[in-house]
Amino acid sequence: MGVKIQAVKGMNDILPVATKESVWTSFDWLAFEEIAQKWLKLYGYKHIRTPMIEPTNLFVRSIGEETDVVGKEMYTFDDYGESLSLRPEGTASCLRAVVEHNLLYNSPQKLWYMGAMFRHEKPQKGRYRQFHQIGVEALGYAGADTDAEIIAMCWDLWQKLGIANCVQLEINCLGNREERAAHRTALVAYLQQNVDILDEDSRRRMTTNPLRVLDSKNPALQAMIENAPRLSDYLGEGSLKHHNTLKTLLKALEIPFVENHRLVRGLDYYNATVFEWTTDKLGSQGTICGGGRYDGLIEELGGKATPSIGFAIGIERLLLLVKAHGVLKADNSPDIYAMYQGENALPLLTKAVQSLRNAGFSVLTHGIDQKLATQFKKADASGAKFALIVAENEVLSGSLTVKNLQTGEQKTVEFNQIINQLNSWSN
Ligand code: ATP
Ligand code: MG
Repeated sequence: MGVKIQAVKGMNDILPVATKESVWTSFDWLAFEEIAQKWLKLYGYKHIRTPMIEPTNLFVRSIGEETDVVGKEMYTFDDYGESLSLRPEGTASCLRAVVEHNLLYNSPQKLWYMGAMFRHEKPQKGRYRQFHQIGVEALGYAGADTDAEIIAMCWDLWQKLGIANCVQLEINCLGNREERAAHRTALVAYLQQNVDILDEDSRRRMTTNPLRVLDSKNPALQAMIENAPRLSDYLGEGSLKHHNTLKTLLKALEIPFVENHRLVRGLDYYNATVFEWTTDKLGSQGTICGGGRYDGLIEELGGKATPSIGFAIGIERLLLLVKAHGVLKADNSPDIYAMYQGENALPLLTKAVQSLRNAGFSVLTHGIDQKLATQFKKADASGAKFALIVAENEVLSGSLTVKNLQTGEQKTVEFNQIINQLNSWSN
């Protein structure tokens, strides 16, 4: 026997059954995707699919060289002389495609994507090396009403999934480039005064991207960070107005939120509004969704300046939360479990199964000529509502036997009566 091969660490199989490692099943994923697709349609978003591999430079330029994602977490490889990377997130690829195909030439775009993302992180519950995101990008919308709309969209989804009472919305305003530059000068001066207590990462970031220091999770730095100059004190009239409008709209929508002046997000491209949805139910992997404005990013990637905003939801974390605290109806039972005895039953059974499927019933066939008692056990375990049985008697009379597995009632009916019989049981 050959040696068993295992999946790459931090990369999960999504199976029809729950396992020790994953509380969700592939049925849960499908149920979630169905809800999500209807939800996205309600808000007018159109689907986009992009490759999982992109030129490394795309991520370096958009996400930023100094971020954890690009600096330490990316799967980068040489492809015969060209540096390529597995996508660590979806926005950069989406915008690359939009610019490449000139999708913004005469109207704004609302796009959504879903798929696997790759980051070389330490695997733990809620943190994986291959994980999945579902995200939206609203491209060409400058107003705070769009910020409010996409936040309301998230709130709507949490409600559909029964987790609205487990999540908290945090918002912040990162201002524009000039405001961040003024804040940066003050922040660097402050960090320099505290250089003795900074860790190695923060010292490096102090010169390359000091705002990132505020994002440090190092407990030893928290008090110093708390007292650092706040970006909110450097915001001008335009940024304040945008932020205040957003808050007014969130209040009108009755969406609870808190302001977190330290929220800077892990990617460099954000400006103005940033937000995160967090939960205290998933330990330290508590962020289920993050988003914000990236008004300069499309221009940075070679397109024309286009104010834009988006968010990404981590599907694994969301499903962990939904399985523990929410509702997700995964429909994985067939309507009918079909069984037979004796090979000469097969033509009648096959014909019956196919006509039932054509009539819209889902049918799972047992597929092995075994004792009926064994087959009934499997039928019960499958969760099917009805059993269809074709054995010697049915073959002789050309009729079909059906059993209502919920009531135990059993009937033998003519071939063309079967659908009527099942419908009468269903009503
Ligand atoms: P974190 O601070 O938890 O590392 P992040 O800020 O790096 O998150 P984003 O880049 O904003 O995350 O990605 C959006 C969402 O994708 C996160 O809120 C999270 O739900 C999910 N996510 C990010 N990294 C992972 C991962 N390694 N495994 C599972 N989900 C992830
Ligand atoms: Mg991260």
